[in-house]
Amino acid sequence: MKKLLAIALAAGMMLSATACSSQKNSGEGKDRETIYQVALLQSLTQGYYDGIIKVSELKEHGDIGIGTFEGVNGEMIVLDGTVYQALGDGTVQKAADDETVPFSNVTFFDKDGSVELSDISNVNALKEKLSAVVEENGKNLFYFVKMSGTFEKMNVRSELKQEKPYKTLDKALETDQTEFSYDNISGTVVALYCPDYMNGLNTPGWHFHFISDDKTKGGHLLDLKFAKATAEYDATPEFEMCLTDNGDFQKMELSKDVSDAIKKVETNED
Ligand SMILES: [Zn+2]
Repeated sequence: MKKLLAIALAAGMMLSATACSSQKNSGEGKDRETIYQVALLQSLTQGYYDGIIKVSELKEHGDIGIGTFEGVNGEMIVLDGTVYQALGDGTVQKAADDETVPFSNVTFFDKDGSVELSDISNVNALKEKLSAVVEENGKNLFYFVKMSGTFEKMNVRSELKQEKPYKTLDKALETDQTEFSYDNISGTVVALYCPDYMNGLNTPGWHFHFISDDKTKGGHLLDLKFAKATAEYDATPEFEMCLTDNGDFQKMELSKDVSDAIKKVETNED
């Protein structure tokens, strides 16, 4: 694992909707230690839901990840190289390669370690345990976590596809969020940890998505409960961002403080 944090801002300058290809990772060799981010959580929160890159391109940058699709048409879970789309109606499908992505984080998962977790009664307890792992290994790196198990309770949300003109994300979720609760469901939690200094580009701390083992249920994780699970983690020291030259995106005021709106859309808390 490289100790240096390299920040590469790869703004696409070609005149296509999918301007952002930058250098492509083969998935082999040394480029596996990069968090690849499409746009900003801040642009998504402010209502920029147009796709910036295709699913087929996103897959060249990672085999694990989270995100959403054009028009916030469901929650994205990338697991073992497959991109799943957990739709607002509670169903899950494999995302088509030409589906586009307004916001996502992916990397290639290489396990750096694992931790056994037991008697986790809610999502905050999970955050606490995983944050202890991060403190031990370096809180200023990025982490992806893959945690498989059987979950006594699993509460996820998705949302219905938005049409233009797009509302801000908190407004869209007020009317179009859908929630699903499952008991004793086997599956995998995919989690991203962003360091504190990512405030402004993403959300600091933890962001969890879930997909069931049979790939029929999933979404953005709101809460869970489980007796026992193993969390594998991948500490990642490099970061690359993919932006777009689209005029609407260029007009956005992305330094605007939308942290309250982000907290609301991430956790359902006001
Ligand atoms: Zn999410």
